[in-house]
This record gives sequence, C-alpha cells and structure tokens, in this order.
Amino acid sequence: MQYRSTRSSSQTVGAQEAILQGISPEGGLYVPEALPALSAEDLNALTGLNYPERAAQILSLFLSDYTLAELKECTTQAYNGHTFAVKHIAPVMPLGGGLHILELFHGPTAAFKDMALQLLPRLMAKALRAKGASHKVLILTATSGDTGKAALEGFKDVPDTKILVFYPQDGVSVMQRLQMVTQEGDNVSAAAVMGNFDDAQTGVKAIFGDPALQATLNRQGYRFSSANSINWGRLAPQIVYYISAYLDLVSQGSIAFGDEINVVVPTGNFGNILAAYYAKGMGLPLHKLICASNDNHVLTDFIRTGVYDRRRFFIPTISPSMDILISSNLERLLFELADREDVQVCGWMQDLADTGRYAVSGDALKTLRTHFWGGYATEGMTREAIRTAYQDRCYTLDPHTAVGLCVYEQYQKETGDHRPALLAATASPFKFPKDVLSALQGRELEAEETELLSALSKASGLPVPGPLGGLKEKPVRHRSVCTKEEMGQVVLSFLQEG
Ligand SMILES: *Cc1c(COP(=O)(O)O)cnc(C)c1O
Repeated sequence: MQYRSTRSSSQTVGAQEAILQGISPEGGLYVPEALPALSAEDLNALTGLNYPERAAQILSLFLSDYTLAELKECTTQAYNGHTFAVKHIAPVMPLGGGLHILELFHGPTAAFKDMALQLLPRLMAKALRAKGASHKVLILTATSGDTGKAALEGFKDVPDTKILVFYPQDGVSVMQRLQMVTQEGDNVSAAAVMGNFDDAQTGVKAIFGDPALQATLNRQGYRFSSANSINWGRLAPQIVYYISAYLDLVSQGSIAFGDEINVVVPTGNFGNILAAYYAKGMGLPLHKLICASNDNHVLTDFIRTGVYDRRRFFIPTISPSMDILISSNLERLLFELADREDVQVCGWMQDLADTGRYAVSGDALKTLRTHFWGGYATEGMTREAIRTAYQDRCYTLDPHTAVGLCVYEQYQKETGDHRPALLAATASPFKFPKDVLSALQGRELEAEETELLSALSKASGLPVPGPLGGLKEKPVRHRSVCTKEEMGQVVLSFLQEG
C-alpha cells in the first residue's frame, strides 16, 4: 500500500516513510492510495482473534511494508496486561436502549490516545531500522491535553528518538498537566505555551516548515516527525477498535452480523471519527457517524452548513481535549469529499489560511451529510449528561464522553433513528475528578484534584487508575514556559541537552 499527499499526487511513499515523516513535505497529510476492502468473510475470520491479533491483521492491510510477524510483535507489546488495565483492551459495555460504550481509556495514561501511541513508537523504531536510517527522530507534538502524555509515555526511552511536547499553559486540566510535568525518561520534555491549543499546533506546524531549523536539526543528526493525529501511524491503529467493537457486539448477541450501527465520537482534531469513517469505507456496516462537539462547535456548524469558519472566540471548557478550532484531520475527509482532487483541497486550505474560512457545497456537502451528523453540548448540558448517566445508567462518564452522550440523545430526538449505537469513551473520569464530582453533586467543589480521586472512586465504584493515583508524590521534572514565537528556541535548547 502506497501513500500520497492530500495536496499533491506527484509522489507516493510507503507506510514506513509516511510514518517517519508525519506530514508530507508540501504540508499535506498522507492518505492511502486506496482503502482496502473488508469482506464479510474477512470480518468473520477476525472474530475468533484477540485484540492484538485483530490489530495486526487489520494493520497489515495498510502497513504493507511491515511483515505480519513484525506487526504482531508490535501489537502484542502495545496491547497487553502490563500496558492496559483490562484484558479486553477496548471493551464494549451496554448502556441500555441499544447504546453501547466502547471504553478506550484503559491504557497507561487513561485516555484513548494510548490506543495509537502505545503502538506508534514501536512502528517508528521498526521503520528506522528497516530503512537503515542514519538519523534519529525528534518528535514534536502539540497537545490539547491527552496526546502529550500518551506520546511521552509511548516514546519514553525508545532508542534513537527524542520527544518534546507543547501544551497550552491554561488549556489543560490539572491532572493532564501533572501527568506531563512529572514525566520520567531520559529523552523527554514538555513545555507550556502561553496561548491555546491552536497556538501550540500552529507553532509546531511552523517549526516543521522552517528550513533553517530543519538544517540545524539535520546537522545534529535528527529529523522531525509528529505524534499528532496528522501522522498516519496514529490513525491506522484507531481504525482497528471500531472493527473490533463491531465484532464484539456481534459476539455478545447485541446485533446480528451485517446490522448497521451508528457511531458517536466526541471530536476535536477529527482524528478519532475519521478512523470510523475509514472503517465504514472498508465495508464495516456503520450508518451515521455522529460528530459531537462542545462549545467550540466549529465542526457542528461545518456539517450543518458546509461552511468551516474558525473566526470565532475560543472557549475553554471542561472537555479541554476538544477545545480546538482548527481540526487538522478534516483535511483528509475534504480530500475524499472532493473525489480525491488535490487542487480542490489546496484551494480550501488556502482559503482557510487567507480568510479563516472555506465553504463546501454541491455533491461534497451532500456526501458529508450522508455520512456525518453533527451536534454540540454546552457546559450545562455536559454536566447534566454526567449526572443523568450516573443516575439512570449507573455509569460515570468523563466530560468528553458526556458531550458524546448528550449529542447522541439530540440525534435520536431529531431523527428518530434507534439503530444500535456505539459511543466512543475517550477518557477515564479520573482524569477530571473535580468536574465529574461537581457535576454529580450539583455544586462546585473546592478541593485539590488529586484529593478527589478517592471520593470519585467511592462514588463510581471504580478503582483509581494506578498511574493517576501516584501523581501527587511524583517530582515535577519539566518547567519550561514559552511564547508561541519562542517554541523554535525551546526545540534547539532541548536538542542541546544531549
Ligand atoms: C483527543 C481527545 C478527543 C478528540 O479526539 P480527536 O481525535 O482529536 O477528534 C476527545 N476526547 C478526549 C478525552 C481526547 O483526549
């Protein structure tokens, strides 16, 4: 399988090269030249396998320059009883009324980012070796909260790599910040950017496009790559869990093989829901992909009107990992909506850069609406969803997943579509103990976040995830703070550290 850029067809690269580069040289995103198809027979063959086996089989369709044995080695090292807290890795549970929750947060950092970031470093290390690369890789990552920690944890002490994470100074939760600033490992660092996630993401993209910085980096034997979901190596592993969850629903007797289901995804950078779209494109029987946003509902507006307009105020919410106004992965969907015409994609992206907006219409808009439905939840609605899910469904949601549930209920009300549905649970409630407990108790709590973990454990009946419980005692190792303009300088100092 070869990969091409969303902005140019002049060159194709193999999966290993796409993963090592992260972003294509002219600024586009790598996409597979064709989506592999999964027949009913293929799906049936996966049913008897466990998660890492399913992952290796599905990934082998996309990452064809790795052998199946290499992929199996990577997936068994990524998904096992040491890295994940539950044997099923990504279990599916009934929430009642045909709704099922896909728990993607049992990895080492308690958010769904682990599903890809436990695997990506292993794929990258193998690609480096296969290519006999003489350079090392410097991973630069902007994070809205969860990617940063998951990437640090995934790349910690991986040979021939260094990783530097930029997070918005006031844009992440207390637990998310604590997770990053206490990160251990000899090849890791994290810096706070004075600004929001879009500032951090734009800054990282500017560094990737800075020839002088590239040259300095190359002289020191490094090349940049990205652990953000613009990297194909982040997206491919996410396709796996939608397929796996569908098979689990069949095995559990919740649906019959071939039944269509809806999928609900709390969305920010459009990576997770795009993976569901690819699974659908491969032949998985998915009906609507329900895109759930918070108060920063640029995607809801896009799906409803065809106009993407980032010119609006950025609103910090209790679902910070979705506080995003520039959804990078949407470019991959635009590419499909434009029937894979890169000139059209370049036009839209140029409009976005020049004017802050672009508009799709005609067939592109029709196709968008055929596959996607968009809605958003305000802060009040999100808190209410946490409370009612607890009361009525005995389930403790994190704020991001609560946004998803809320939007799903809007969808059902508006459309009357009662097909079985799968809600992607993207984080553990223990990453946001104060907001979750406050929502459950209907009042603002005063205590420190780390002091509320045991109260949340008592309320939810769930154990505190091990790594979160230990955060309070860990020393702070990373204290840098910088402006958006200083990010390049931070990269250079980090390289100098040896
Ligand atoms: C990253 C993240 C999201 C958004 O996922 P995208 O792939 O960026 O759309 C939602 N919820 C949580 C908890 C996250 O960490």
